[in-house]
Amino acid sequence: MERQSSKEMEQRKGRRLVLFPLPLQGHINPMLHLANILHSRGYSITIIHTNFNSPDPSNYPHFTFHFFSENLPEDGTCATDLIAFLSLLNTRCGPPFRHCLANLLSETSEEPVACLISDAILYFTQEVANELKLPRLVLRTGAASSFCVFTAFPLLKERGYIPIQDSRLEEPVVELPPLRVKDLPVIDTPDPVDLYRVVAGMVNQGKASSGLIWNTFEELEQSALETLDRQLGVPLFPIGPFHKCFPVSKSSLSPQDESCISWLDKQERKSVIYVSFGSLAAVNETEFLEIAWGLANSKQPFLWVVRPGLIRGSEWLEPLPNGFLETLGGRGHVVKWAPQQQVLAHSAVGAFWTHNGWNSTLESMCEGIPMICMPCFTDQRVNARYVSEIWRVGVQLEKGMERGEIERTIKRLMVEKDGEEIRERVLHLKEKAALCLSQGGSSRHSLDRLVHHISSLESFTFQSQ
Ligand code: UDP
Repeated sequence: MERQSSKEMEQRKGRRLVLFPLPLQGHINPMLHLANILHSRGYSITIIHTNFNSPDPSNYPHFTFHFFSENLPEDGTCATDLIAFLSLLNTRCGPPFRHCLANLLSETSEEPVACLISDAILYFTQEVANELKLPRLVLRTGAASSFCVFTAFPLLKERGYIPIQDSRLEEPVVELPPLRVKDLPVIDTPDPVDLYRVVAGMVNQGKASSGLIWNTFEELEQSALETLDRQLGVPLFPIGPFHKCFPVSKSSLSPQDESCISWLDKQERKSVIYVSFGSLAAVNETEFLEIAWGLANSKQPFLWVVRPGLIRGSEWLEPLPNGFLETLGGRGHVVKWAPQQQVLAHSAVGAFWTHNGWNSTLESMCEGIPMICMPCFTDQRVNARYVSEIWRVGVQLEKGMERGEIERTIKRLMVEKDGEEIRERVLHLKEKAALCLSQGGSSRHSLDRLVHHISSLESFTFQSQ
């Protein structure tokens, strides 16, 4: 990303932004990218982080880090129930976060803080920001399209779409085309009320904020952004795709196995299927074996991220039959965690079999890689539907994990005419994504607006402090 003119940078010197990411990989990555983007515009950056899942500060010597203990129960609930974890973060982190932020604001030796930027899911921070008279901006790390569905939760409940009934899975949600009931962004959780509370908190405290920043771009999600503009009543700043503004991400919580790059170097152009389901999704042993056989039977080379924890009840690859990988004669390469952005940019990669987390979805589009979509929960389902039906840059596995369908889908994407058309469309999107970040592009323009907006918030902050 080009730097701002030195005059504007000079004006911004002496202004600090405090950023607070949700401590999960798919949220830490975009928040730290955003921090880099705003730092390149002349702001000093302070990151407040929980001790849990903390990124390595030595990778960011240009930022200041403050950590606090998140005070979560140690009974295992947080490890097994994502929604309980998110809900507990919001109910337990208030006092330690407030203490940390108040200390920062009182440090006279540091530059004054212009505003707080917190993850949308950490909605408790709006109340803390109000108390401390600090404006709060929100980073929503997911797509605008899925956020529109979250804002419609009251309607979806009223009309009986949620909680989802198994008998209605294939029914269209007529209010939100092209979604079907099974595409709605829910997750299995022992207490759905927790999910509704988190979604309502995210939406309502987003509306109460001073603006929302999005890791997306206008050309991709214009209609959703227009809807949100009408519904939310606060300024919106689509300034993505963030990860293309800076070359390499250093915010990985797990070591990235670089062996996959030398393995990819030996493969033919556009021949490899890259398979990864992100940092949270899990499958059972039967599903895992269907994936393995689907890949093996496709006869295509594959690079597969099997994260420890991906297979419920197993440490790592134990469920694979003895000698499974060896019989493939080097056609399959398995790693625990990959340098995903580098992998997707490699010329040997021809398709990405993904769970459609928003980061993975954007990263795939930005490299012009068609997707096989296998969403697991929440917004992944909406993303997958948009990928296959609106942007038409991927194919969704509709029958879950079944080796025959997997094999057919891989062939469809890698060798058939249909696959060629999908590839052309995603290459077109790749160009649009690059253009929006260039001089005069929509995301560059939104970033300029954001910087001016922060300046207008600053005058409010410093008058009231
Ligand atoms: N990622 C990675 N290596 C891997 C798998 C994933 O670096 O082997 C990164 C990926 O590039 C993305 C993030 O982890 O930035 C996952 O975020 P996403 O929103 O796709 O999914 P989540 O993990 O939140 O479900």
